[in-house]
Amino acid sequence: MKTVNIIGAGLAGSEAAWQVAQAGVPVRLFEMRPKKSTEAHHTGNFAELVCSNSLRGNSLANAVGVLKEEMRRLNSVVITSADDTAVPAGGALAVDRDSFSELITKRVKEHPLVTVVEEEITEIPEGITIIATGPLTSAPLAQAIKDFNGSEGFYFYDAAAPIIDKATIDMDKVYLKSRYDKGEAAYLNCPMTEEEFNAFYDELVAAEVAPLKEFEKEKFFEGCMPIEVMAKRGRKTMLFGPLKPVGLEDPKTGKRPYAVIQLRQDNAVASLYNIVGFQTHLKWGEQKRVFRMIPGLEKADIVRYGVMHRNSFMNSPELLQQTYQSRLRDDLFFAGQMTGVEGYVESAASGLVAGINAARMAKEEELITFPQETAIGSMAYYITHASGKHFQPMNANFGLFPELPERIRDKKSRYEAIANRALESLEAKKVEINH
Ligand code: FAD
Repeated sequence: MKTVNIIGAGLAGSEAAWQVAQAGVPVRLFEMRPKKSTEAHHTGNFAELVCSNSLRGNSLANAVGVLKEEMRRLNSVVITSADDTAVPAGGALAVDRDSFSELITKRVKEHPLVTVVEEEITEIPEGITIIATGPLTSAPLAQAIKDFNGSEGFYFYDAAAPIIDKATIDMDKVYLKSRYDKGEAAYLNCPMTEEEFNAFYDELVAAEVAPLKEFEKEKFFEGCMPIEVMAKRGRKTMLFGPLKPVGLEDPKTGKRPYAVIQLRQDNAVASLYNIVGFQTHLKWGEQKRVFRMIPGLEKADIVRYGVMHRNSFMNSPELLQQTYQSRLRDDLFFAGQMTGVEGYVESAASGLVAGINAARMAKEEELITFPQETAIGSMAYYITHASGKHFQPMNANFGLFPELPERIRDKKSRYEAIANRALESLEAKKVEINH
C-alpha cells in the first residue's frame, strides 16, 4: 500500500491524517513545531488554535454549524474532539484550547497507521502528498510552492473588504448602475445624503481597531489602505476615493447623491457582494455596527469580515480542483487556509476532503467531489470557481449554496431548508461512496 505524505499538523493536516489513516492507508505526517515555530503558534500541539477558542456557531441555523454537522457525520477528528472538550459558549462551539489540541495530538499520534516526523519540509515531496502548512507556511516551503505554481502564485498579504449576503440587502434603497453607465450595470450603489455621510464618518473614525501583531506591522501599509485610516486623513478624503459619487446619479431622482458606497458582485451566482475599497482592520463587532449605517445595509449579514493580516493563500480558482488536487500534479493535494478557505472549521473541512481523496488515490479508487448542496462541497466549489482576479479567502456561508428550487422569503425557514437539503445530500453521497 502506498503511503500518503502530509505536511503540517494544523487544523487541516491533522484532519487529513486522521481521514487517511481511518481509511486504512499509512500516513507520514511532517510537522516543524516544536523545533521551529510560526509567528502565531505557541505550543508543539497539533491543531493549535492561534487566536480565538471558538469554532463559531454550532446550530444548523448557520452555515458553519451545517459544515460541522457534515464533518461529524464523516467522523472528523477535529469536530469530535471539539465536542469532547467544549466549554459553555451559548450557541457557539468553543473549546478549552489546550485540551482540544492535546486530544487531537493524542488521537492522531496514537493511530497505528500514522508516523509523525518532526521536521521542517522545504521542498515538495514526490508521491501522494497533501500540503497543509497554513497561512504562516515557513519561508523555504512557501518559495517552493510559489515556484511550483508559477505566476499564479501564493499571496502573502490579505487585505479584504467585508462580504455581504445579497439576500439581506434592502434593494429598495440601493440601485444597480456602473459609473457613467459604462458597460453593463454591475454595481449595487448605496446613496448617502450629507447628513448620513457625516454620521457614518463620525462613527467610522471613532470605531475600535483590532490590535496588530508584531509581525503584521511591517507589512500593514504596503497593501491597500484600510478605509478607517483613509477616513482619518480628512472628512472629505473618502469622497474623492471609494465614496466618490460622480457618474452615479440615482435613477429614481436623477440627482447625484452626496456620497455613494458601491457593492461589487463577489461570486458567479451573484449571491454575495463586497464593499468596494473597504479593506479594514476594525474589530468585527465594530464592522457590523458601523457598516450597517450604510443605506441599504441596515440589516445586512456580513458573511466574511474585512481583515488585514499576513495570510499566504493560493489562487485556487486557477490552481486547484474540487477534490483539492493541484491542477498541475494529480497526486499533489493542498488543504487548509492556504487554499483560500477561511477559518478553523473550514480549514479542517478541506483537510477532510483532501484526506479522503488522497486515501482513495492510494487505494486506486475513484476520487470524490462533494455535491455543491453540501457545505463541504459549496466551499470546494467556491474556491475553484470564484474569480481568480479578486480571489480572497472565504468562510462557510449560506450565500455559497445553490439557490433552492422554491423562493422562501423568511430567512430562518430558507436557511433551515438549505441545511436540510445539505444533510440529505451528504447522506446520499455517503451511501454512494460507501463511507
Ligand atoms: P495551521 O493550523 O496554521 O497549520 C499549519 C501547520 O503547518 C502548523 O502546525 C505549522 O507549524 C506547520 N508548518 C508550516 N510550515 C511548515 C513546513 N515547512 N514544514 C512542516 N510543517 C510546517 N480562524 C478562525 O476561525 N478563528 C480565529 O480566531 C483565527 N485567528 C487567526 C489569527 C491569525 C494570526 C492567523 C494567521 C489566522 C487566523 N485564523 C483564524 C485563520 C485560520 O483558521 C487559522 O490560521 C487556521 O489555523 C488554519 O488552519 P491550517 O491547518 O490551514 O493551518
